[in-house]
Amino acid sequence: MLRRSFIKKTTAGSLALASFPLIPISQEKEYSIVELMGKTDIKLYGEGINLREEAHNAFVEMKRAAYSAGFDMKIVSSFRDYYRQEAIWERKYIRYTEEDGMKPIDAIDKIIEYSTIPGTSRHHWGTDIDIIDGYPKSSGDVLVPEKFEEGGPFAPFKKWLDANSEKFGFHLVYTDSVIRRGFKYEPWHYSYAPISKPMLTQFRSKNIFRLIQNETFEGSEHFTTGFLKNYIQDNILGVNPDLL
Ligand SMILES: [Zn+2]
Repeated sequence: MLRRSFIKKTTAGSLALASFPLIPISQEKEYSIVELMGKTDIKLYGEGINLREEAHNAFVEMKRAAYSAGFDMKIVSSFRDYYRQEAIWERKYIRYTEEDGMKPIDAIDKIIEYSTIPGTSRHHWGTDIDIIDGYPKSSGDVLVPEKFEEGGPFAPFKKWLDANSEKFGFHLVYTDSVIRRGFKYEPWHYSYAPISKPMLTQFRSKNIFRLIQNETFEGSEHFTTGFLKNYIQDNILGVNPDLL
């Protein structure tokens, strides 16, 4: 009797469903260094989704809700391993230094406007996604900030995300906050906080500085101590405070 009247009260009242948590509580799990750096295979779920199970399930829920609101939520990029990130890094490094004649340190600064040092991408975790709306026609690169702004093809989708994504556990990572440093504003990059928060905490507890220093790929010989310290502070930790 008591329970019944409680349900009646809450569903009838203004609190309604909003008072019930939609996000399951993740169990504390230990993540290995190779897992945190994308150097090992992890179990991924969903064709064209490729996320850890819990993040996948939350994504499917969010996609369904977006569909009801008139959007075709599409993943442009989700899980990416170390070796894929290394290929992206080296392709850019070679283009900037050899074709464009940039100095190594300038090339590196340009790469880290949007791309991470291999081993430090949040896309290694199976929790982060770059998303767009598949309905509007758009030409050229889709992951461009202007396309998500007023007048852009993804502006209504972005508004919906601002209002709804966090209900499903997905938080914008690289916000347009003026006090945030590091990577540029990425209106398309969302992270499943219930898993990525503990992953970042565990990654921070390792010696990230030493881990990056031990890697060798094109340009890595130009990483100075000062550069790496700033990169860790500004780029790895320069995220939405909800994810820290
Ligand atoms: Zn991304």
